[in-house]
Amino acid sequence: MRSRYGLSDWDAAVSALCAADEVAIACHVNPDGDALGSLMAAYLGLRQLGKRTFASWGTTPAKIPYGYGFLHVEDALTDPAALPRTDTFLALDCGAADRLGELEGRASDSRCTINLDHHPGNDNFGALNLVVPTASSSAELVMRLLQDCGVEIDRAIAVCLWTGVVTDTGRFQYSNTSPETLTLAAELLGLGVPAPDLASEIWGSLPFAYLRLLGVVLGRARLVAGAGLVYSWVGLDDLEVTGTSLDEAEGLIDALRSTRDADIAVIFKQQDDGKFRVSLRSKGPRSVGAIARARGGGGHELAAGFTAEDVEETVEGIRRDLTR
Ligand code: AMP
Ligand code: MN
Ligand code: MN
Repeated sequence: MRSRYGLSDWDAAVSALCAADEVAIACHVNPDGDALGSLMAAYLGLRQLGKRTFASWGTTPAKIPYGYGFLHVEDALTDPAALPRTDTFLALDCGAADRLGELEGRASDSRCTINLDHHPGNDNFGALNLVVPTASSSAELVMRLLQDCGVEIDRAIAVCLWTGVVTDTGRFQYSNTSPETLTLAAELLGLGVPAPDLASEIWGSLPFAYLRLLGVVLGRARLVAGAGLVYSWVGLDDLEVTGTSLDEAEGLIDALRSTRDADIAVIFKQQDDGKFRVSLRSKGPRSVGAIARARGGGGHELAAGFTAEDVEETVEGIRRDLTR
């Protein structure tokens, strides 16, 4: 075993996991491919070592997002209120403890909280902090952590890890794709990951109704001249009219960012409570992380999010920030 990434807590985290009989694992609320893939990889890996493992995220009920059925998260998932109180608590892909939602208290209550993440500005909320902002994904870190714990990365675990890496790198197109990322991806492919099948599951299995929603959202997209900003929104009524659900709408932001007339894309997605989850993407170098943090959210410099009450008011604020 060797310390990785120059992290002083790495070896201690390996020792803590190896010594634990049971581990509760949680990822951030509204989990994306990296959160789900990291969660399931850690769940399967630690189980392979004979530990009792429990997986959750802090939303009740914990609804599994669209397109990730092949991860079989339902086999592992415990509702947050039922998550056993274990000494060792592994938090994955959370830039801050509040990203744990209903499980936020576990970060401070557990005897040993391991905070594994790749968000810049992570506030090191764990007792042990494995934070590597240069990593493509939390899945990349989970893979090395599991290997250092003696886990054999089998095909099922490789599928989970691949999911995290391909979703957080936008299929290896973003600047977080490093030579190490591709080396790791090559290892995963070598383990038999069916990459085309997974791509088709994640990005190519939306219902026809999604195309109608895409039409609505692109039809009302607006370009904010002078700010390099394109935005659109999805209201609850749009979901009802088109017969779609919000978790099918994750890819809308990618359609918006495909214009060369804007380097920043923003989509507003209305939640059941009426508020909007805002997703921001930048083609660089301008940071959307700063915009999200200033509004109580977070994320990476080129991919970030926050919650807002009103679309036009928020766009006006972002426009002001971008043009001053
Ligand atoms: P998304 O647009 O939901 O795909 O999120 C992009 C990035 O921003 C991910 O790294 C998320 O974890 C992060 N993010 C999204 N929403 C929030 C939020 N409300 N607070 C903190 N980070 C967020
Ligand atoms: Mn994530
Ligand atoms: Mn991530």
